[in-house]
Amino acid sequence: MTLVIAHRGASGYLPEHTLEAKTLAFEMGADYLEQDIVASRDDELLVLHDIHLDRVSDVALKFPERKRPDGRYYVRDFDLAEIRTLKAWERMQADGTPVYPGRYPVQSGDFRFNTLDEELSLVQKLNAEHSRRVGVYPEIKRPAWHKREGVDIAPLLLATLKDHGYTQATDPVFVQCFDDAEVRRLRSELDCPFPLVQLIGENTWFEAATDYTALRSPEGIREIAQYADAIGPHISHLVDLQSVDGVPVVADLAGLARDAGLQVHPYTFRVDDLPPGFASFDDLVSFFVNDVGVDGLFTDFPDRVLSLLKD
Ligand code: CA
Repeated sequence: MTLVIAHRGASGYLPEHTLEAKTLAFEMGADYLEQDIVASRDDELLVLHDIHLDRVSDVALKFPERKRPDGRYYVRDFDLAEIRTLKAWERMQADGTPVYPGRYPVQSGDFRFNTLDEELSLVQKLNAEHSRRVGVYPEIKRPAWHKREGVDIAPLLLATLKDHGYTQATDPVFVQCFDDAEVRRLRSELDCPFPLVQLIGENTWFEAATDYTALRSPEGIREIAQYADAIGPHISHLVDLQSVDGVPVVADLAGLARDAGLQVHPYTFRVDDLPPGFASFDDLVSFFVNDVGVDGLFTDFPDRVLSLLKD
């Protein structure tokens, strides 16, 4: 069984992380809904992908004087009440053009940002109404940066989960983070009861002070298995393209992870952003499910993945 994790909700159709996008993903049949977690000035946990607001909202129109010297508007500089006045927009580039031109039109719609608390309430209400057990998959965003800004997200996240009755390893929760120090701490210091996912990125992203090249080595994977339950690699980490004809073949990483007892949940499967070597979304999903043998996958298009898994 391959877990279908709705990446930022059904974000291929509605602005990411809105309650509408989460509800749609639930209705499509996703197994897990993802929440990226950042903190407001008054230490409220918000479900937002970025520490910045300017590429996913009308913050620059509503609060033009509140940018930092780097020209960006930070979630951390606004109270929840202020963030609630913003419109949540489909993701834009720095110049205001859409990141994904075929998706919901940018700078339009009447969507809002929501707290983690509100989203967990929604998930539980939908589960109760539909007699389902759809899980949650929170990601602690930029923990070291947040600590420098005076807020420690991990304990707040665990407390919020507990408030909603998530307390045991068997509850449908995965906790994910790119920062290996934070994932280790969740296990060793914070007694996180839930399965932990070590996300794996590229060192050039500056997402955390983590050396992803080392983490992806055989030694690195065995080390991850000491503190985590799964890896969340980028799609490209699991595929090699043959030098002669560019045909995809399975890279070593998934086998290394499996041998170490780790699940593999790669990101992100997008109909409108296919990786090199794949002619169609169907080919992409089929390769990862049947050849790589992933345990779960993050997708902006849960409906498309679910219909392929049914075939
Ligand atoms: Ca995420």
